[in-house]
Amino acid sequence: MALRPYIVGNWKMNGLRATLAEARAIDRVAARYPAVDVGIAPPFTLVHAMAEEAQAMAVGGQDVHAKPSGAFTGNISAPMLEDAGARFTIVGHSERRSLHGESDGDVQAKAVAARAAGLGVILCVGETEAERDAGQAEAVVSGQLHGSLPKEGAEGLAVAYEPVWAIGTGRVPSVEDVAAMHRAIRADLVAIYGDAGKGVRILYGGSVNAGNASELLGVADVGGALVGGASLTAESFAAIINAAA
Ligand code: PGA
Repeated sequence: MALRPYIVGNWKMNGLRATLAEARAIDRVAARYPAVDVGIAPPFTLVHAMAEEAQAMAVGGQDVHAKPSGAFTGNISAPMLEDAGARFTIVGHSERRSLHGESDGDVQAKAVAARAAGLGVILCVGETEAERDAGQAEAVVSGQLHGSLPKEGAEGLAVAYEPVWAIGTGRVPSVEDVAAMHRAIRADLVAIYGDAGKGVRILYGGSVNAGNASELLGVADVGGALVGGASLTAESFAAIINAAA
């Protein structure tokens, strides 16, 4: 099954209003690549402004609360994100899992809430360096998938494989290791969703940049990229989008 490539920028806690100029430039790049799905997950403060202007790219959240509304100071719900113009959200990023103590169950509840609000979901999984060194990488990722993917269907779902040790470090796994992990993730998706699991895009994330994007995106079953640092400027992000086209 040929899936449309999906290139998503995760701006993390970077982005003041001045960054809107970069967002406009990325949107113009996205317009030149109609065969590639392009998304940016900016800080919440920029979601509405970016979504109002975006023509060719989707704007998304970096996280979402599992409840639709209520007394949760500092949080944003899925219906609020959707109301602000977001079309998708990231859930389960390793920075949320490690810095905010999110469990697989928490991530699953967020994914379910996001889909109930009509948002696409990019669900992140990935092993630590110690887990890879111990030969546990595939088992850890499989456990995360079984524990955090919504059970009731694959619609609107993408998985991002992001080895924790590759995020923001400039280090990437070998092509063979990426291929093996994406193959294992596909097998889990099919085990969970049946044939519909073949339609879920599996993105690679972790130190993707203009220099390594072609090689990583050329690996079997790498259906796109989740990009942190290299998504912050239109110039470097454009090179990654171009590599996916
Ligand atoms: P990076 O971040 O591209 O800066 O390594 C990726 C991510 O955390 O999604």
